[in-house]
Parts: sequence; C-alpha cells; structure tokens
Amino acid sequence: MNAPGKIRRLDATTANQIAAGEVIERPAAVIKELVENAIDAGASQIQIRFADGGLTLIEVRDNGHGIAPEELALAVERHATSKLTDGIHNIASFGFRGEALPSIGAVARLEIQSRRDNSEASQISVSAGQVTAPAPAGHNIGTTVRVRDLFYATPARLKFQGTDRAEALAIIDTVKRLAMARPEIGFSLHDVSGDGGRKILDLPRHGTDDFAGRLRAVLGHNLLDDAVLLEAAHDGIRLWGYLGLPTAARGSARGQYFFVNERPVRDKLFFGAIKGAYADLLPSGKYPFIVLYMAIDPRRIDVNVHPAKTEIRFREAAAIRSFVLNAIRHRLADAGLRDNHDLGSTMIRAFGVGSAPRARIDGALAQINTPLARQGEIAGFAETPRAYAPASTLPDAALPSYPLGLARTQLFANYIVAEAEDGLVIVDAHAAHERLVYERLKAEHEAGRAKSQRLLVPEILTLGAAEREALLAAAPDLAILGLEIEAFGQDAVALHAVPAALGHQAGSRLVNAIIDELDDDPASAVSRKIDAILATMACHGSVRSGRQLRPEEMNALLRDMEATPNAGSCNHGRPTFIKLDLKALQARFGR
Ligand code: ADP
Ligand code: MG
Repeated sequence: MNAPGKIRRLDATTANQIAAGEVIERPAAVIKELVENAIDAGASQIQIRFADGGLTLIEVRDNGHGIAPEELALAVERHATSKLTDGIHNIASFGFRGEALPSIGAVARLEIQSRRDNSEASQISVSAGQVTAPAPAGHNIGTTVRVRDLFYATPARLKFQGTDRAEALAIIDTVKRLAMARPEIGFSLHDVSGDGGRKILDLPRHGTDDFAGRLRAVLGHNLLDDAVLLEAAHDGIRLWGYLGLPTAARGSARGQYFFVNERPVRDKLFFGAIKGAYADLLPSGKYPFIVLYMAIDPRRIDVNVHPAKTEIRFREAAAIRSFVLNAIRHRLADAGLRDNHDLGSTMIRAFGVGSAPRARIDGALAQINTPLARQGEIAGFAETPRAYAPASTLPDAALPSYPLGLARTQLFANYIVAEAEDGLVIVDAHAAHERLVYERLKAEHEAGRAKSQRLLVPEILTLGAAEREALLAAAPDLAILGLEIEAFGQDAVALHAVPAALGHQAGSRLVNAIIDELDDDPASAVSRKIDAILATMACHGSVRSGRQLRPEEMNALLRDMEATPNAGSCNHGRPTFIKLDLKALQARFGR
C-alpha cells in the first residue's frame, strides 16, 4: 500500500477542471451553456459559429445586456453568478451555479468581449485557468464569447471526443432544442470549418407564442403535418405541443422534445408518460414524434439535480406523470379519425399527372371499362358477385352524415373504397377490424368481464409440459378475458370458449400466440401484459385479408370505426384508412 498523502486544498484550476468534467463533457455542452447565458442576458439575436465539431472554435455572439468592465473578472471566477437573487428554489434563469465560464476557462482558451449600455466595451481572456487583466475592446452592446482549442488543457478528455461530425450533430441538436424553447429569439448557426462557411440554421424571430412557426422553421413542415395540436391544463400546470400520429412513428426517440419552463429537458417522466400514452397505438421499438411544452410554478420542480440541468425533479411526479399521460391519450383518441386526412393529401401530391402516350391510356381505359360485367370470375370475388354497389342505388342525402362515407366496393380482397361528402376514403379492412376488435375487447375488459362464446366442440391442444403449466397458471386470468381453458389429460388442454368479439376463427393459433406472451411468472403475466394479450387476441380475431365483405358488412365496419376511439391506426401503428380530400383531388385534375 502507498503511504497516505497529506490532505490539501485543490487549487482553483484543478477544481475548475473537475467541474468542467461534469458541466461540459463535449462541445455541444459548451454551446448550451453559452447560449443559455445569452438568453439569460435578454438577447433577441444569438449568432453561433463553430469549427471542427466545436473542438477548435466555438463562438456565441448576443445582443443582450452585456457585462460591465468591472464585472468581467468576476464572471470567469468560480461560483460567481448574477442570477441568484431569491434562493435556488425560485429560479427563472438558466444559469445560477456560476460554473460554466470558469470551467470552460480551465480546459480551453476563453475570450470574452462585452459591452453594457452606458459603459465602454472591454475584454478578458482565460487560458488553462490563467486570467488576463481586463482590457478595453471594440464591441456593440452585448457579448461575444469565443472558445478555442477545447480540452487542450485536459488531453485525457480530448481523447474521448467523438468525430467532428458526431460533435457537429450534437451541436445542431442542442441549438435546435434551445431555439424551439424560445421562438421570440432569432438564432443562426454556422459551421466555419476549413475555408468555407456552411449555414446550418437561420431562424428569424417569431412572436413569443408562435411555437408552431418556430417548430416549422426548425423541424420542417412534414412532421407537424402528421401531428395534432395538444392543449391541456390541470392544477395550475399548462401543457401544450404537438403529438405525432402513430402512423408517422420512427425507429428512435430522437424526434422527442420536451421543455419545462422554456428549458429543454430530457426527463424520464416524459419518456414514461409518452410510452404509456402510445402503448396500445404502437409496437415496442417505435417512437412517436412529439414536442411538449410545460409551464409550471418553479417552486414545484427542482432543476438542480444535474450539473447540466437537463433533468429535473418534480415534487408531485406521479400526479404530473398521469396528467401528461392522460392528456396525450385523450387527445389521440379524439384525433383518431380525422387525422389520416393529411396522409391523404400527401398521397394526392404524390400522384403523378398522367403523361403516358394517348394510345396506352386508351388501352388502359378499354380494359377498365369491360371487365366489370365479368367481375364474378375474379378470384376472391366469386362468392359475392354483387359486392359492387352502383352509386345510383344509394340515397345521396345519406352521404353528409358519415365521415367515412358509404362503401362503394372492395378492392384487392381487402381495401374498402368509400365515398364521403368531402372525399374518397380507402380503408384497410383487415387493419381496421383488428383495431375495432381490440378496442371492444379492451372496453369489455374494463367493464368487468369479456363476453365469451362457448365452442360446440372443445378444441384440444397438445402442449409441452412447461407451456401447458404456464397456460394453466394463467387460466383464471384468461377466463376473465373470455378465453376458457382447462386441463385435459396429461399433456393437453381443452379450449372451451373464446371471447365473443373474436368470432369463430380464434383457436389453437391464438392459444399458441398467448403462450408466447406469458413469461417466467405466468400467474401475473396476464394482468401485467393485458394490452399485449388483448392485441394478440385482436390480431387473431380480425378479418383475414382475402375475405370478401358484403356491402352491409363494409358499411357496418365504417360506422363502427367512426364510433371507436383510436380507430385511425391499427395496433401496429399503421393507418387503418386514408382519406383523399375531394377538393385536393379535384385540384389535381385541374378543376
Ligand atoms: P451562471 O450562468 O450560472 O451565472 P456562468 O459561469 O455561466 O454562470 O456565468 C457567470 C456570470 O457571467 C453570469 O451570472 C452573468 O452575470 C455573466 N454572463 C455570462 N455570459 C453572459 C452574457 N452572454 N451576457 C451577459 N452576462 C453574461
Ligand atoms: Mg451560465
């Protein structure tokens, strides 16, 4: 063992380098601290430049209130802040720890030029912890902070930096999030690596509440077009933002943005609430696009749990989580039907205007026009040759009342084509039916007990010992869902009844799929995985593609969809229908 060392106080530079390890682990974190300082200074314009992923240069220029010459030296000193006037529980500014500038000065070459109103401009620099005396400078009102050679004073940290490209992407993400939090501030971001300059963002100032305008400028239009607006309030908390439709979900959580009191956060409360709210709209591994803003009394949160302040602690976390979850869930439920409209407009835009030679079009038309009479011969249509309902047999007055219109025909043995007053509707019958069955199973389950239908002849299933045991352990819970299973002999089970919502087709395959959902603790698996099991049931109980529906069945399906929450997408997050807006359709034809 080594001889024990003497206890001694860390010198200021070492202490700052240690703090830097927490506050600024990468260039994007430096940019975050500097931009937050600019926002705290009341800037309305913030210009950011960086080179080589921020490792050689970061520059943030603002038109905020600036720093007085006599305060410059203090600004770069540890634990010096102008922002704590009322204790740390009533924090309205981003900063308050007085750590960022000294930390940066300890690991890089830092240069600050600033001018306050009614005062001369001055500058100061810090390099590896060594501070120069403040000197006069030339600068407009506001501040420019320049950081060169980040981490040159801490080579170990420098080695752990990602590629320039990865760091640049992190910088862009950071600036976007900050810009989304404050629409009223103009932002620009340039990559000035090499000789060239590349403009990445140039965001004009918006109105204070024009979040939609800022989001469109930052994220592009498509994302918002496939999202619905949320506005909710509860117990003094305001929540608003955009909820991506399940049909527009992605493979990563990168498109999720949360803000609390104008501060970008990455908080597990939000991730959890969103997962819960979308749970039965999306399969696992799919993440909705989402932007949420929360305004809450600062005394009800603690922002001082993380050095970079990206996590916060809510004093009533459980209540707030359920408020967020329910607000999203309700909004999605009533958005269910209307919002596939936008998918429709995208689709109409995607249709090319016909440019084929006239002869080919005529040929195609000739083909379309003749076979209707022979429809009964087409495979899959044979049972119901009259499924095609001519428009004239339906009363026109019936159209307006149905958002999904009246069924006109079924194509490709699955898609229902319907005519609504304001557009053409195409329904994926299989997906829609699956959703309806799922919602019905869920409603019955919530009401107490699912209606079940006894099989005339029990279905006997031979199973492996472990599977049989797991299934029988779960049998009492499955019975509540309408699925009645009993032991049968030594190596089999008998299926006596299935949930009525499923119809006759459920059977051994359903039971096998349920076994796959049960895990090491089958007795509690059913209640823990109720949604997954109901989804499995729905999947097995829905109309298989390929079945030809009668007109009254098609219309019943459409009416059910209109009356069912979340009917706009299936359990896998795929759309159940697309509506082509009549006006857009006519415009496409130049009418
Ligand atoms: P904090 O933001 O936690 O107070 P910092 O180290 O980031 O700590 O900044 C120290 C102080 O320097 C701030 O409290 C503020 O008074 C001043 N300051 C830093 N950046 C700016 C700026 N861009 N404009 C005006 N004042 C600034
Ligand atoms: Mg700060």
